[in-house]
Amino acid sequence: MIVVLKPEISKKDEAAVLKEIRKLGYRPHVMRGIERVVIGAIGDERTHQSLETLASWPQVERVIPVQKRFKLVSREGQKNNSVITVRGNPIGGKKFQVMAGPCSVENESQLLATAHAVKKAGATILRGGAFKPRTSPYEFQGLGEKGLKLLAKARRETGLAIITELLSEQHTKMVAEYTDIIQIGARNSQNFQLLISAAKTGKPILLKRGLSMKIEEWLLAGEYVLSNNNPNLIFCERGIRTFESYTRNTLDLSAIPIIKNESHCPIVIDPSQGSGRADLVTSLCHGAAAMGADGLLIEVHPNPAEAWSDGGQQLTLDGFARLMESLHPFIAAAARE
Ligand code: PEP
Ligand code: MN
Repeated sequence: MIVVLKPEISKKDEAAVLKEIRKLGYRPHVMRGIERVVIGAIGDERTHQSLETLASWPQVERVIPVQKRFKLVSREGQKNNSVITVRGNPIGGKKFQVMAGPCSVENESQLLATAHAVKKAGATILRGGAFKPRTSPYEFQGLGEKGLKLLAKARRETGLAIITELLSEQHTKMVAEYTDIIQIGARNSQNFQLLISAAKTGKPILLKRGLSMKIEEWLLAGEYVLSNNNPNLIFCERGIRTFESYTRNTLDLSAIPIIKNESHCPIVIDPSQGSGRADLVTSLCHGAAAMGADGLLIEVHPNPAEAWSDGGQQLTLDGFARLMESLHPFIAAAARE
């Protein structure tokens, strides 16, 4: 931390600040300018008590942090990209991975038809919500364990890995028994106890960005996973809430180069929640692939018009196959396969 003192403060006031800095566990280094004194407080900002309280002292002008608040997820902490392998599918390496499937698991024929179709088109991971975070309590809440059993059946039939959302700590053990990747949704991305319990299962965690979450907060939420001894973290940008009303959310593709710069963990893009519009999904996928995302999470349904959730944003089986065909040049542009 850098502590900037106000001009012309007394020696006594300066000494009081130095005493406090030492008390908080830092070593002060005083730099005397012509008009004011600047103190470098040397010590690990993440583990020592915060010096930020000094900003409220009358003799202090500003306190400026130097270190980042996250450590294990940071690129500084690990130079090479993390590659997370899920049933033989590496996420974060050379291969671009596509996760696809319905918003909600509804019944066996819907899920199996989707699973076979997305596999044929080139997806490697099947998505499907069994526990659904719905805005209204009167909307379909998911099939629960029955949905998890159907996902497991689809995995047996197709060989696809599966990803599904964990909504509550109460279900951590159950969800982990079925799924290959645990999805933590936008509404729970700062539910730290849930993140800790999911991390402790050792399963790969896909962490969505919250609706109003800053990237630093998202990285810090990811830090909860890594600091609970689970290195298998995947970030997922799914749009944030803005004033725009053409789309359900504003998909922030700038998160791709920012996360790539700040972190070694993979990042995938969810253009379905990200736009709320099936007609926008293909171009958003093109952009995400060309910008260097590690993969996509896409909603696909055999009959979107009759979907029990998020009908307007789900691709048809044919639409998904066309999207997959059209992706190649964009994946190649980012030097991926
Ligand atoms: C979903 O993937 O269907 C979902 C509910 O996602 P989010 O948490 O991003 O809204
Ligand atoms: Mn959805």
